[in-house]
Formats: sequence, C-alpha cells, structure tokens
Amino acid sequence: MERVALKVPLLDLQPQYAAIRADVLAAIERVCDSQHFIMGQEVERFEAEIAEMIGVAHAVGVSSGTDALLVALMSLGIGPGDEVITPTFSFFATAGSVARLGATPVFVDVRPDTLMMDAEAVAAALTTRTKAIVPVHLFGLSADMDPIVALASSRGVPVVEDAAQALGATYRGRQAGTIGTLGCFSFFPSKHLGAFGDAGLVTTNDAGLAARVRRLRNHGMEPKYYHHEIGGNFRLDALQAAVLRVKLPHMPAWNAQRRANAARYGELFSQMRQVNVPVEPSDRVHTYHQYVVRVRERDRVRAHLASRDIATEVYYPVPFHRQTCFAAYTHSPDAYPVADRAALEVLALPVFPGLSGDQQAHVVASVAEAVR
Ligand SMILES: *Cc1c(COP(=O)(O)O)cnc(C)c1O
Repeated sequence: MERVALKVPLLDLQPQYAAIRADVLAAIERVCDSQHFIMGQEVERFEAEIAEMIGVAHAVGVSSGTDALLVALMSLGIGPGDEVITPTFSFFATAGSVARLGATPVFVDVRPDTLMMDAEAVAAALTTRTKAIVPVHLFGLSADMDPIVALASSRGVPVVEDAAQALGATYRGRQAGTIGTLGCFSFFPSKHLGAFGDAGLVTTNDAGLAARVRRLRNHGMEPKYYHHEIGGNFRLDALQAAVLRVKLPHMPAWNAQRRANAARYGELFSQMRQVNVPVEPSDRVHTYHQYVVRVRERDRVRAHLASRDIATEVYYPVPFHRQTCFAAYTHSPDAYPVADRAALEVLALPVFPGLSGDQQAHVVASVAEAVR
C-alpha cells in the first residue's frame, strides 16, 4: 500500500477555534460595542471566574506571563542585592524577570526524573540574601512543591510558582500556581488557555500582596494620579479577558484530550526502550502542555521526523547557566549535569487537543524508524 502523506504540526489551534468561533466573535463584538478596552468589567469577571476555577482567593490579570513574574517579584520588594533561586532548565522569562529587577538569579540543577527544581539543590543554594524561590511547573506537571515550600517556610522565604505551562495541573489535590506565596500564569496563544495575543495572571491567597500586585500593574497608582511606588503598565486588555472568558470553561476538556493523547503515546512507546516518555508521579495530574520525550541522538531523530512532515521542538536547547546574557551569574557552568544532558535529549512531540489517532501513529512509527 502506498504511504499517504500525513502532515503533523506541533500545534494546531484551528479545531479548538472552530468549536467556539461564534462565542468568541460574540464576546469580541460585546467589547467593541462597549468601546471599553482597558481593564473594566471583562477583566474583573475573568479574574473572578478563574480564581473560582482553580481555587485561589485572588487573581490579578496582567499583560503577559513574563509580566506576571516581574510584578509578582516586585510585589515582594525584590531588587538589587537580593538572590532568587530558579531552576536552570526553563523558559528564559523565569530568570530574565529576576535579572531585570537588578536581583541575582541563582541557578540550581533539576531532578533527573521530572527535569524540575530539586529541593536538595535549593537547600544548598540558600543564603541569607535569598529573597524568593521560583519553582517552574515545566511542560504541564507540577514541581515537587511540599519539600520546596517546607524549606522556604523554615527560612521565611516566599515561593513564586512559575505556572505558565501548568494551568489545571494538580499536586496532592491542589492546583499548580495556588500552593506557593504567589503563582504566575501565561495566556500566550500556545498555552493551555490561550488569548488572542499576550496575557497573563498573578494568583495569591494573600490579600496584601494581591492589593500590591493590582497597584503595581497600573503604575503603582492609588487613587488616580497618586503614586506610592513605581509600578508599570502591566494591565490586561478587555478584549483578551473576553476571549479568555469564552475559552476558560473548555479548558478542562482540552486538558483531558491532551492527557488522552499522552496516554496513547505511552502505550505506543511502551515497547520502544530507546524512548523515555515523561513521568507522571502518582501525587500529581500532568496536563501535558508539552509531551517531551528523551532520546539519544535527538537532533538526528528530529531531522528524521521533519523529513516525515512531523513538526517537533526542543524545550530547551540552552539552560540558563550556558546563556550568554547570564554569564555574570554563572560561576561553574559544569555544575549542572542533569540540565546539560536534558538539553541534548529532550524532544517535544505534537500532543495538542484535536491531534488524530492516525497522526499519533505516524509520529510513533516515524520515531521507531529513527531509533531502531
Ligand atoms: C510562556 C512562559 C513564560 C512567559 O509567558 P509569556 O506570556 O510568554 O510572557 C514564563 N515561564 C514559562 C515557564 C513559560 O513557559
């Protein structure tokens, strides 16, 4: 039988959009008719709805996931002379936001099983200057939070969760992003819940911090034209909030589809010892923002998949301790063997909601051709 050409993108948002198109256009029309574009009712309602869904007291809509991290760290008063511990293996913004405030990012290596922050490494990196710990819930799985939070509490250090990839993920029954002192989410279009542009969210159960984040989001202003501290323009647009409100109720079903796709990959890869599939510890629900396998000769496997019309991505090829812009914060670049190895082996396969069984079978068959 002749092989049928089957193209597999890394992410296709069209099936999702097709299912909600009329609702999205109605929401956009509602905002256009109101001619109210910055903050306001749409933003307030979105904040209340998402806070209710993930079980947190306060949710503050902001302009992006990066700005969520920045304003969360600002609300803790972090600045020059302060140290903030981050994993070395994450998206740039996790450490970039620390450095932008003049504080010092302190990188720690990650765990070999989950590729996330290792509490023992954090313990070794703590100093009297440590002002925050930023675990990252990478690829849709929560980091192992209890040991990190215990360590942080014992030293009176706040925990800022980078939950940009983990909306809907749980850890011991609690939602990622609601466990630490503050949580930061991104609604970049490719995330679990994607806006039609940039958007983000800060969550917290601390009323004082929530008020401070709200003030910092709008130039530190309260009341109008009275500035107690220097904030910025980190506001969420009404149009983005309106789109997010349409999508939010669908998010659990989309996450369930990602989990079903991951389970199917798990079965299909079960006989292929050369492919290490992602782990899901029994105390967590993984939402598979990315389905990241680990393989030897990753670049060769990736090139083979590309030749079969299968798109993949490498999250992330360069850990923080090897980034040029962070050289000043890296004293021993060879001290992160787990992250260095992960950077050579990780490969994200398509897992988006709407990915067909045929497409998945094509991905797995093509991986098998490459690794045998
Ligand atoms: C996407 C992402 C961010 C930044 O979010 P933006 O909305 O793109 O600014 C931060 N951290 C992690 C881990 C991310 O994946």
